[in-house]
Amino acid sequence: MGLVVQKYGGSSVADAEGIKRVAKRIVEAKKNGNDVVVVVSAMGDTTDELIDLAEQVSPMPAGRELDMLLTAGERISMALLAMAIKNLGHKAQSFTGSQAGVITDSVHNKARIIDVTPGRIRTALDEGNIAIVAGFQGVSQDKKDITTLGRGGSDTTAVALAAALDAEVCEIYTDVDGVFTADPRVVKKARKIDWISFEDMLELAASGSKVLLHRCVEYARRYNIPIHVRSSFSGLQGTWVSSEPIEQGDEQVEQAIISGVAHDTSEAKITVVGVPDKPGEAASIFRTIADAEINIDMVVQNVSAAATGLTDISFTLPKSEGRKAIDALEKNRSGIGFDSLRYDDQIGKISLVGAGMKTNPGVTADFFTALSDAGVNIELISTSEIRISVVTRKDDVPEAVRAVHTAFGLDSDSDEAVVYGGTGR
Ligand code: ASP
Ligand code: MG
Repeated sequence: MGLVVQKYGGSSVADAEGIKRVAKRIVEAKKNGNDVVVVVSAMGDTTDELIDLAEQVSPMPAGRELDMLLTAGERISMALLAMAIKNLGHKAQSFTGSQAGVITDSVHNKARIIDVTPGRIRTALDEGNIAIVAGFQGVSQDKKDITTLGRGGSDTTAVALAAALDAEVCEIYTDVDGVFTADPRVVKKARKIDWISFEDMLELAASGSKVLLHRCVEYARRYNIPIHVRSSFSGLQGTWVSSEPIEQGDEQVEQAIISGVAHDTSEAKITVVGVPDKPGEAASIFRTIADAEINIDMVVQNVSAAATGLTDISFTLPKSEGRKAIDALEKNRSGIGFDSLRYDDQIGKISLVGAGMKTNPGVTADFFTALSDAGVNIELISTSEIRISVVTRKDDVPEAVRAVHTAFGLDSDSDEAVVYGGTGR
């Protein structure tokens, strides 16, 4: 008998039928002799709808009030789920993030969990209840205001509770059967991964894979909580994310050379044109960006033209920060000293991830060959020990992902990549 934390995403509880289906699954886990803690997201696209609504009454809704509004989404699903479980004859109690002891800093809309004190959850379990916790929310330590953890934050709630309650596993139920070698919405022949290390999963998440959030995987690695990503729509084994390979039957699942291909079309590229090629220039550009609290991703500096001694510096950043970055740089134009700025939001990034890269020469060459065979032009390149990323035209991304996926032998023979639900919104 152990303690299991299960997390159900919005598409798994999109309507009353979904809630009843999920309730049955939860009761099964309880009947198998486990203590069960469930973390739920808001139903379907509720969070997006609430944001739309907020923007209709105010173009820039106050962070505190937006958090109050958005946390209502998870409260609806937690209460309905508890009712559905009780209707099946089992004891259940729902808790807000605050009641569950999820303590955060006070940065509204993207708060960080700083402590979890799940006393009430323990008591509820000891009294034989299934505990249902609203995901994606907490309460700030200093002001006692309601906070949210940033979009998709329910996964982090689940892992944080699993760590605080010393759970055996954190099961994350989603609308696909696990982590795939590429986004199954783009690559029909994507293959389900049986096991992936925390490191490779972190790199995939950082490169745009949406199945698990980077912060959630980081948390799981820190506390060494195995994650099992699986579908609430099928009974299949999903993907294990953990520090050590899992056993399947008598066999150990081996570390793949390449774990997968991720893509990201949420970034834009800014080129600072006509920068004097002298020490301190890059420093003042990126100091300006950092002071505006903007995270950047890739950077390249071109060679300077001999005649002018001027160079161009390009970098990528989240599209959502584009306006802010341009404004910050323009304000500092004379201080930095550049000719002009170019903004390009029609880019996409493709990344190949795998720890085996370190010991297999030729991976980089094969990656570029695959892109060139597909006629894809490369604009920026960056690498880490276990990842190669390139920036291309946004329109080239689907084709490029498929080409790389095939070139590295990742295509499955069957069409196993089923997307069960969700609008991908
Ligand atoms: N409902 C929130 C969102 O859509 C949190 C989550 O789904 O994890 O971002
Ligand atoms: Mg959601």
